[in-house]
Amino acid sequence: MDAHELPADEKTLLAHELLNQEYKRLKLESRRTPMHELISTMLSHRTTHKDEETAFYTMLERFGDWEGVMNAPLEELADAIKTTRYPEQKAPQIQQTLRMIKEERGKINIDFLADMPVEEAMNWLTKLPGVGLKTATLLLLFNFKKPVMPVDTHVFRISQRVGLIGAKVTANKAHDLLLKMLPSEPVELYNFHIHMLRHGQRICTFYSPKCEKCVLNGICNYYQDVREKGIDKAA
Ligand code: SF4
Repeated sequence: MDAHELPADEKTLLAHELLNQEYKRLKLESRRTPMHELISTMLSHRTTHKDEETAFYTMLERFGDWEGVMNAPLEELADAIKTTRYPEQKAPQIQQTLRMIKEERGKINIDFLADMPVEEAMNWLTKLPGVGLKTATLLLLFNFKKPVMPVDTHVFRISQRVGLIGAKVTANKAHDLLLKMLPSEPVELYNFHIHMLRHGQRICTFYSPKCEKCVLNGICNYYQDVREKGIDKAA
């Protein structure tokens, strides 16, 4: 049996191992406070990191703190975050999110999630406006070291091309499937996520994947298909 014909669970572990050899292993350390991560992730949708950061700090500088952001006139908040895409949608979502946290917890702080079981924390977060599975999993893994698997566009694309998940699997379903196949320690999930992200940005890019340079090409369905058809020679 060729390596690309291995069952998905074996392939996933092999992909994780190969990426671990290719990219630097990282410690799982929170880079921002949970509230910062939550609101930044909401701002980051279809926006570059630089523009997201500009919006985040402009917003806090203009309105002082989370209470100020929550009570700001909507148009002014949308103006403060205008470096992001869809500021007129994000501004009300951010304010609603802040209001819901305040109403439910009495203050604008989500540190309590650290003590909440994973499923409960996921349910709580995904009830917030503008918070989907991706934002919730990023927050729970990066800030609270919970065993979840954030599936962003890079994780999803590479997983499908290599054949870790089927072609018809949705991103939400991919979260559960990958989680079952990977080691359950949060630091392993974190490294897999970050390594796939880097690999997607540098090698397995959307339009022209650099398959000949890729450490996963021996196990990759897409590469085998391309090679069989002989069109990699044209790349
Ligand atoms: S072999 Fe090509 S398609 Fe497969 S993971 Fe690598 S770059 Fe992506």
